[in-house]
Amino acid sequence: MKKETHILHAGRNASENFGIVNPPVYHASTVTFPSVDAMNKAGQNPTEGIYYGRMATPTSQAFEQSVAALEGSDKAIAVQSGLAAITGAILAFVKHGDHILVTDSAYFPTKKFCNTVLKNYGVETTYFDPSIGGNIEKLIKDNTKVIFTESPGSLTFEVQDIPAITKVAKDHGIITMIDNTWAAGYYFNAFEHGCDISIQAATKYIGGHSDVMLGTIALGQDLYKKVKTFVYGLGYCAAPDDCYLAQRGIRTLPARLNVHQENGLKLAGWLKEREEVTKVLHPAFEDCPGHEIWKRDFTGACGLFSVVLDRKFTPTAVAAMLDNLELFPMGYSWGGYESLVIPFDPTGARDASVWSEKGPCLRFHAGQENIDDLINDLEKGFERLNKA
Ligand SMILES: *Cc1c(COP(=O)(O)O)cnc(C)c1O
Repeated sequence: MKKETHILHAGRNASENFGIVNPPVYHASTVTFPSVDAMNKAGQNPTEGIYYGRMATPTSQAFEQSVAALEGSDKAIAVQSGLAAITGAILAFVKHGDHILVTDSAYFPTKKFCNTVLKNYGVETTYFDPSIGGNIEKLIKDNTKVIFTESPGSLTFEVQDIPAITKVAKDHGIITMIDNTWAAGYYFNAFEHGCDISIQAATKYIGGHSDVMLGTIALGQDLYKKVKTFVYGLGYCAAPDDCYLAQRGIRTLPARLNVHQENGLKLAGWLKEREEVTKVLHPAFEDCPGHEIWKRDFTGACGLFSVVLDRKFTPTAVAAMLDNLELFPMGYSWGGYESLVIPFDPTGARDASVWSEKGPCLRFHAGQENIDDLINDLEKGFERLNKA
């Protein structure tokens, strides 16, 4: 079965559920056992069955089956947020005295976790330039346990040569993880490109309606028990209503993503023609570092991208543009049905690469509104920008 078909059917079984299409939501803490023997048996293999609410419910397992179908993995683990998926996956593979390599363009809270929690626990992080490719080999030490990538990068969208990086990692027995949130596990198959673990903030496109906090860790059967046991031990777990909503989200993910992709491409194309815009950082556009790699490895683009404005525009002028937009409210997170914008400055967030653009930056999320309405709104915004 092709992915589009598979994700409609994974994680549900109408014939075991009165013929009802969707699985029910199980709210559970206590799971009772009919005998001491049954309890002991369940305890021998708790990661596979229904053992305790924090470990799993039929609802979280159904969602995880859908995620595995989406990502093309054997298994998936749901946790309470995207950041929890990142921290839980990394922590499962490191101990005091170890070293990890992390892309310089990672989601900033990921870097903050490395710079604070990991550092305090004696795990060293080296950041690498997102364009490093196979040269990452030079940064590997005897104690390097994990390479953490995110492609395209948060805010600045550098596309990384994942096959080159994972090849080196395999030669050295190092685990590779990717934050695959931008491609939603749909436009990029992490496992076909050599990654061991694909992580998503399901908060974004999988949920798709700006109402769920959830993270997913997709991985092979060989790593499943280790990571599942570890995040269970940390006390991580995903709430059943959120799992239900997110599984519902997956059913329509390809259809929604296609609209985000189309609106994103049109919006970015329109912005590229504006003289106020000096660069369009969208992987499908040549300005974007790694554009050729995106063409080679990805099957599409979501609705999230950035632009750099001319350096002559002051913060006050940018605020005049953004404050009065009707269809682009400002807010963190993204991946819901609605459009969004944020101003940002990557300068301070760089450790291993240089951000040389001088102009103000804007990150857009192209939602599912009518494209003409979005463009009209931005057109008025540019009038305010020029007048201020
Ligand atoms: C939002 C985001 C996260 C974190 O997800 P939360 O669910 O907000 O914790 C991680 N990675 C990327 C790329 C994100 O955009």
